[in-house]
Amino acid sequence: MKKIQMVDLITQYQEIKSEVQSAISEIMDKAQFINGLAVHEFKDGLANYLGAKHVIPCANGTDALQISMMALGLQPGDEVITPSYTYIATTEVVGLLRLKPVFVDCEKDTFNISSEAIEKAITPKTKAIVPVHLYGQSCDMEAIMDIAKKHNLYVIEDNAQAIGSDYTFSNGETKKTGTIGDIGCTSFFPSKNLGCYGDGGAICTNNDDLADTLRMVANHGQSKRYHHDMVGCNSRLDSIQAAVLNAKLKRLDNYIDSRRSAANYYDEAFAQVDKITTPYRDERTKHVFHQYTLQLADSVDRDGLVEYLKGKDIPAMIYYPIPAHEQKMFASLDTECGDLTTTDWLTTRVISLPMHTELEDDQLKYITDSVIEYIRS
Ligand SMILES: *Cc1c(COP(=O)(O)O)cnc(C)c1O
Repeated sequence: MKKIQMVDLITQYQEIKSEVQSAISEIMDKAQFINGLAVHEFKDGLANYLGAKHVIPCANGTDALQISMMALGLQPGDEVITPSYTYIATTEVVGLLRLKPVFVDCEKDTFNISSEAIEKAITPKTKAIVPVHLYGQSCDMEAIMDIAKKHNLYVIEDNAQAIGSDYTFSNGETKKTGTIGDIGCTSFFPSKNLGCYGDGGAICTNNDDLADTLRMVANHGQSKRYHHDMVGCNSRLDSIQAAVLNAKLKRLDNYIDSRRSAANYYDEAFAQVDKITTPYRDERTKHVFHQYTLQLADSVDRDGLVEYLKGKDIPAMIYYPIPAHEQKMFASLDTECGDLTTTDWLTTRVISLPMHTELEDDQLKYITDSVIEYIRS
């Protein structure tokens, strides 16, 4: 059996190696490192894949979020509702821009931001909601968009973990995550479902004016050459990363299928095991399994399980051990917290198992047998 890894990018690379190498080599030969053809090809390819009108590539997913909040003209003190149960980048940029993070709870079954909690947290100062499609499954976007419309709020989707996922509204319309709110942000960090071989990110929107502003913010606030109308930043996706992404975008749906079949294997193996709750599948969305995350009953010693698996050469991770509202970075900032009972509980009970496009049945059997062995011991 091949050594088990949380993410196996080496095996995945072997299959696309010649295509990626020749694309990179062409860029090197032409020295088109910035804004080369590969970047334009990727921008159009991603817009087409997502069904989004505009895609603005940028340097990473964190920048994508920051640029979005800048382009919407959010001002210091404006309140931004975000989950506390997420990767730190989502909430960090809110603090960086001196906006006020309002941390709200998530739903126990989906791990995603609770729409009821959002509604309770709204004040006259609320300007935006940042739903995070955690682990690869869409938030309840119908409820969130209804709330946003009712209270006139912007919606910035953090789609870093869910590219390729979608959501079907009650009228039957299906949209890809990241294209539902005003703006969608994503990351191409190597371990993401669509990852490059360095850093990368993108922003998408269907709003023409907003797209112009987003492009401007990402490029030193420049409206035309050497005319800088606003303070922006410098955030680009380089041509080499775009070339990698072009090769992988074509295969994204196959990658998603591989992840979903590994998830199905896990689900079946754990279906009859007390003390383990497998990921809830919301019928309105396609789960793309950036992570495969279990909830363990209170009686299970989680650290013990992690250690036990480590002893068997099986990696496992806790995403996330400390929720955003408990991070020291926010101690000196103006923040607001809703009731975060579910978030606090989940951080003590979740465990993520290896999940990637290259998992083989013998590995999955070994992992699931080992987890069950520990739970039943
Ligand atoms: C990875 C990630 C980000 C940040 O992306 P980077 O490219 O690492 O800056 C933001 N939000 C979530 C939920 C993520 O998982």
